[in-house]
Amino acid sequence: MSKPYDLVVIGTGVAAMSTALTVRAAGRTVAIIDHRPYGGTCALRGCDPKKVLVGAVQAVDHVQRLSSRGVEGESFIDWPGLIAFKRSFTDPVPEQRQQTYAQKGIDMYHGWARFTGRDSLSVDGEDLSARQVLLATGAEAVPLPIAGAEHLVTSEGFMSLTALPKRIVLVGGGYIAAEVSCIAALAGAQVTVLQRSPRLLPPFDADLVGWLMNAFQAHGIEVRTNMQVEAIERNESNERNEKNGSAFRVNASSAGQRVLFEADLVLHAAGRAPDWGPLNLDAAGIETDQGRLRLNEYLQSVSNPAVYAAGDAAQAGPPLTPVASHDAQVVAVNLLQGNQRKPDYFAVPSVAFSIPPIASVGLSEAKAREQGLRFRVSSQLASDWYTARQQAEPVYGFKILIEENTGRILGAHLVGPHADEVINIFALAIRQRLNADTLKSMIFAYPTGSSDIESML
Ligand SMILES: Cc1cc2nc3c(=O)[nH]c(=O)nc-3n(C[C@H](O)[C@H](O)[C@H](O)COP(=O)(O)OP(=O)(O)OC[C@H]3O[C@@H](n4cnc5c(N)ncnc54)[C@H](O)[C@@H]3O)c2cc1C
Repeated sequence: MSKPYDLVVIGTGVAAMSTALTVRAAGRTVAIIDHRPYGGTCALRGCDPKKVLVGAVQAVDHVQRLSSRGVEGESFIDWPGLIAFKRSFTDPVPEQRQQTYAQKGIDMYHGWARFTGRDSLSVDGEDLSARQVLLATGAEAVPLPIAGAEHLVTSEGFMSLTALPKRIVLVGGGYIAAEVSCIAALAGAQVTVLQRSPRLLPPFDADLVGWLMNAFQAHGIEVRTNMQVEAIERNESNERNEKNGSAFRVNASSAGQRVLFEADLVLHAAGRAPDWGPLNLDAAGIETDQGRLRLNEYLQSVSNPAVYAAGDAAQAGPPLTPVASHDAQVVAVNLLQGNQRKPDYFAVPSVAFSIPPIASVGLSEAKAREQGLRFRVSSQLASDWYTARQQAEPVYGFKILIEENTGRILGAHLVGPHADEVINIFALAIRQRLNADTLKSMIFAYPTGSSDIESML
């Protein structure tokens, strides 16, 4: 006998939790499933624990920058202490989430969910049937087609290390590489980033990434671009003598030349995508196209209308927590009232929490040109501005795109102190279609990161 539910939610991250609670609050019966501890990526293995580590190395970096400027004494990262602090955030999450679901009357299952039919699933030996299903299964590090890929450690593994390895090589050059390389380098590791494309952080503005690379250099991070990683080998002889030798050798090539890197840890920072394998989507008639679910504009499967998706699993918007949360709100309405709402990803800000952070919202310069828009660019490396000097952080710059005639802000790109906060003001302006004059007329508290906006415009 299968147990019937109005909604079965697969996953317990941001997308899953928000939808499950809203649908349950409307009186429907809901089951939720995860094969890992409850809480999802952001709270347990992503944004939140990462920002704890970022905050700590930021403090060390700040002290170092202010040295000889009135701040003396050495500060350094005590890695085990920092990981224990991180765990004070992550450890309580699964229990807290389970308590919430229990209080709300949501049935919990632990195990891999697997479709057995169009409206039926099995989990941990139990059969469930569902009037509707939400796929909120997130993403995983993509399998890399390189020999020795089994030696790669993910960002999750990195954030759980009990000791910081001496030499860390990162494979990939996106957000995770930028963030983890700064954390590891400022915590005392020797860090090398191997990026296949010509620069790090391809989604961000090339000029700003160029300025950011000066900070990476100051942190001692070696960034090697146009570098194709081919194999990771364990150094058997050195394993017995780790004091002198490294544990791994990373084989790479660049412009036809073979290059070797020694590493004690090799980190996967080469992208994440949903892993559909365990779900047996075929049994439910859920179609995918090149690894992506085939969804309509209401985030509903085009081949099985009982099934919706949200967050990283849907891949409809950028793979970010606020997007997962937005998708969940949209899907909850559609589940309860029929297809009413479509997601709106206009002006979603994104931040890489490197040291210093880099942030972006709206159109890139290239996209704005592609669209034939007429705009002016206000851009500067502003190392001599007060904000930069007061923080002793020379990497401080911006690029703002302002449409001719309308004065509409099309895109904002920031790097340096407060970029991660000030980007939200630009996101507000772009999403609400405010023009540059309106934003300039704001009276911002001074001296703050936002009080530079008038000069940026
Ligand atoms: C290191 C790192 C740092 C990040 N930093 C940021 C950041 O600073 N800001 C930001 O906005 N975003 C960040 N992200 C991205 C963000 O974490 C994700 O976009 C967000 O968590 C996605 O939420 P979700 O609900 O879609 O999926 P998830 O939170 O990933 O939840 C999916 C859940 O489904 C479960 N699951 C999967 N398949 C099955 C199955 N078959 N059966 C049962 N359970 C299953 C998984 O175990 C998982 O718990 C970061 C991600 C990483 C990895």
